[in-house]
Amino acid sequence: MTNQQGVSLLRPAAQDQNWKTLIVESFRDLDSLLDYCEIDACHAEVESSRKFAFRVTRYFASLIEKGNPLDPLLLQVLPTANELQQVDGFHKDAVGDQLAMPVPGLIHKYHGRVLLTLTGACAIHCRYCFRRHFPYSEASVDYRPASPAMNYLAQNTDINEVILSGGDPLMMSDEKLADLVSSLNRIPHIRLLRVHSRLLSVLPERITPSFMAAVSSFKGQVVFVAHINHPNEISEHNRQAFQQLSRGGYRLFNQSVLLKGVNDSAQVLAELSYRLFDAHIQPYYLHRLDKVQGAAHFDLSMQECKTIYSELRNHLPGYLLPSLVEENAGQKSKTAIHCD
Ligand SMILES: *Cc1c(COP(=O)(O)O)cnc(C)c1O
Ligand code: SF4
Repeated sequence: MTNQQGVSLLRPAAQDQNWKTLIVESFRDLDSLLDYCEIDACHAEVESSRKFAFRVTRYFASLIEKGNPLDPLLLQVLPTANELQQVDGFHKDAVGDQLAMPVPGLIHKYHGRVLLTLTGACAIHCRYCFRRHFPYSEASVDYRPASPAMNYLAQNTDINEVILSGGDPLMMSDEKLADLVSSLNRIPHIRLLRVHSRLLSVLPERITPSFMAAVSSFKGQVVFVAHINHPNEISEHNRQAFQQLSRGGYRLFNQSVLLKGVNDSAQVLAELSYRLFDAHIQPYYLHRLDKVQGAAHFDLSMQECKTIYSELRNHLPGYLLPSLVEENAGQKSKTAIHCD
């Protein structure tokens, strides 16, 4: 329930539960989304949506242009027959995460920071997702005090940052998030808590008073990293959620994936940076696609990536330019892609 300015009129307690209803009301089958978008179902590929389930929030769907089968938001969620093709060089564990898991659900690849996979659930299923084959059922972290993951953090005193990831960590209830924060608060050297989430932009109703209370119970700094690929993904509605976080004193960053047919032009990416900035979000990373099986149709050659990025760099002030990076298994950080 919103008024014309998109300001929520729900009472705080109702607001706290509203997002769960919106998840349940998401589009769960392709035909109903295409129907809503006024697009002929011949583009539908049901077999692909069986292998990696289909899911889109109503808010994200509302941003798709009616009648446009090439809409850049639609293409991010549309299952196609291309997903079923085996392409050389595209693997199930594209980034070597399963080799860097000392404890189930805890990925420790880089110095000083670990990533926790909290849930396999997402509010939207992105067809290019590098975790589309990830064995979540074996890898949801146990975050109770004295669990193996918390012991690992306590023993490794050079770890100062914990990154909440998934799936999408904001699919967890506020009670569970608060429990996790309370476990982390017992470990003195954890100073930063980072939340990587696509819900921030695709389900802005998730930012509720009780969510704000759960994150603010962390003893150190909390940083949010959104996942927005195209300027059309930002509207007045999610801008208000970002503003709320920003007013709460949280720093907001964004990572995008460079995707063929979606945002593979310097003009689109420049507009994205300006809109992010307008929404109080700092562009952070522009990722080259991870070579995951089923996503080859989004891939751009290294030369194409460099050409787009060089042009982007010539368009933007330095503070709006994301870093172009790729993830290579076994490396100690993301790998910067240099263009001359
Ligand atoms: C990307 C990533 C991080 C975070 O890297 P930053 O460069 O600090 O953003 C941490 N752990 C894993 C496993 C990652 O893939
Ligand atoms: S929200 Fe993130 S983890 Fe979930 S499907 Fe999209 S890219 Fe993958």
